[in-house]
Amino acid sequence: MIKIQAVTQRFAGSNGPVDAVRNVDLTINKGEIFGIIGRSGAGKSTLVRTLNLLNRPTSGKIIVDGKDLTALNAPELRAARREIGMIFQHFNLLSSRTVYDNIALPLELSGLSKTEISKKVTPLLELVGLTALKDRYPAHISGGQKQRVGIARALANAPKVLLSDEATSALDPETTRSILELLRKINQELGLTIVLITHQMEVIKMICDRMAVMEAGKVIESGQVIDIFRSP
Ligand code: ADP
Ligand code: ADP
Repeated sequence: MIKIQAVTQRFAGSNGPVDAVRNVDLTINKGEIFGIIGRSGAGKSTLVRTLNLLNRPTSGKIIVDGKDLTALNAPELRAARREIGMIFQHFNLLSSRTVYDNIALPLELSGLSKTEISKKVTPLLELVGLTALKDRYPAHISGGQKQRVGIARALANAPKVLLSDEATSALDPETTRSILELLRKINQELGLTIVLITHQMEVIKMICDRMAVMEAGKVIESGQVIDIFRSP
């Protein structure tokens, strides 16, 4: 489903060029929860930004469902991006919009009518358990509830892939567990492929099928989670 082939992402650093991602090869299967772990600075965020083509890779290919994203022009890329949802560590909600209106935002941007938007937002509120809080503003809900809004918003355009960049890093252990359970439910019920970036081993152990370990821009190990944690 997702093939990352020989991807390098080079930046012009102040002390010369930096390869934030170096010659990475990864295949992520349809319907799996794939974890990418590594210390701060390992290149994880750069790799997800490249996956979403927020960065164009310096070299290499990103193939999603047989389509090479690196070969698309700007309008094609905008359409392809709609198939990828994203959630963030700091939620990135708009404080001036209610829970409902935050979830509706991507649908408004896609040009849907109020009725069409309501038909999509109502079941999403149900799915993430926020129906009763739909008219609240982000300042008046908890961190876990904010991430539920982030998840519903990411699902609004019915993506095939959900990218999670440290989505539980700002949450306490119990809230982390409930968000991971929600992600697993979404994975199972919607068949959504999830790519989850984290620096927390427990997060990977809790929900991932397969994983990759990144260090200094490179993938140094990848495989089944149970095999990697079993190895000496
Ligand atoms: P992680 O998400 O694993 O913490 P990052 O992908 O944020 O790692 O960063 C990997 C390395 O690339 C770091 O050394 C970072 O400073 C560098 N880097 C990331 N983005 C840029 C950029 N736009 N320009 C220059 N260097 C960058
Ligand atoms: P985080 O650790 O939460 O990923 P960072 O501070 O590493 O946040 O990065 C935030 C943003 O700044 C990212 O978009 C990243 O690409 C960019 N960035 C990171 N390091 C550098 C750098 N050395 N020079 C320029 N941009 C950078």
